[in-house]
Amino acid sequence: MASEKVAGRCLCGRVCFEAELPPRFVAHCHCENCRRAHGAGVVTWAGFSAGDFRIVAGEERLSRYRTETDATRSFCATCGTTLLFESPRWEGEVHVTVASLLDPLGREPTGHAYADRAPAWCPILDELPRYGGESGTEPLDEEGGSE
Ligand SMILES: [Zn+2]
Ligand SMILES: [Zn+2]
Repeated sequence: MASEKVAGRCLCGRVCFEAELPPRFVAHCHCENCRRAHGAGVVTWAGFSAGDFRIVAGEERLSRYRTETDATRSFCATCGTTLLFESPRWEGEVHVTVASLLDPLGREPTGHAYADRAPAWCPILDELPRYGGESGTEPLDEEGGSE
């Protein structure tokens, strides 16, 4: 059975990749590391199984930054577009910036990670479930259901 693919690339087009649909998850991240690394108030990620993801061009242009949490953030060394996130916390997964995709993902974001760290200048304005705490993924109960 032919699987559907999604393609993506950096701004200058040197780094191109593709992944097989569907993604394992799609979510917004409001953590400080994403904010700083991407220069953006929120970063939307799609997670793929590493076996379903391939760099198809520009592998040699992909620069990898190893963070102090042992995660790897990869970006195009020519144009600086932030593309990938990998971490021992999500072994066997590649997280891809939805902003770098060329094709529809066929799936909407389902929640906000690190929602309690969203900066005042980029508030969360929708009704999707919010997660936070130390891990960024613990359910937050903002309706005050369990006081
Ligand atoms: Zn580039
Ligand atoms: Zn993040």
